[in-house]
Amino acid sequence: MTASAISELRRTVADLHRELTRYELVIWTAGNVSARVPGQDLMVIKPSGVSYDELTPEAMVVTDLHGNLVEGDHSPSSDTAAHAYVYRHMPEVGGVVHTHSPYATAWAARGEPIPCVLTMIADEFGGDVPVGPFALIGDDSIGRGIVETLSGSRSPAVLMRNHGPFTIGKDARAAVKAAVMVEDVARTVHFAHQLGTPKPIEQHHIDSLYARYQNVYGQ
Ligand SMILES: [Zn+2]
Repeated sequence: MTASAISELRRTVADLHRELTRYELVIWTAGNVSARVPGQDLMVIKPSGVSYDELTPEAMVVTDLHGNLVEGDHSPSSDTAAHAYVYRHMPEVGGVVHTHSPYATAWAARGEPIPCVLTMIADEFGGDVPVGPFALIGDDSIGRGIVETLSGSRSPAVLMRNHGPFTIGKDARAAVKAAVMVEDVARTVHFAHQLGTPKPIEQHHIDSLYARYQNVYGQ
């Protein structure tokens, strides 16, 4: 991995932050996207406390997988430890996203998994979107909660209890897609709940929807 590859990843991660504002998943400076630097124990992540308008490729920071700053003019995101923990423990993960998107966060506030009551939930998440444990920021608790919950699930999204969604993907773009999708299904199932009781999908149908979407369409 050369310096030019890292600078390309800085651009990718900066551009992907625009998707968070475009889909109204974040306010103020909340929310963050990171990408693993392939083949190195490094990641590119959003700086802390910088407004979305100022998130240029140059503003992104590079850290090691313990969150130590390697390259950049700003401090890394306050959620860096959680991202780093995920990369250390889930080698298949190439991107991590965190937001406080309102509908998904409302489910997290109730500590309630989003039930798999839509074909698109089966497609994207392979079942219910799970809830992770309550965890305080400042040590490995959030990262550990994400990894423990997602390691036993097909879902690329976890609703951390009383906090909000974290999503993973094979790359940062896939993790952003999961962040957009989890907010969309959280909103739709919320509406369904207001009007009645959503109908569950039988497990064998969930399995075949997930297999078809993941294998035929690819991710
Ligand atoms: Zn947060």
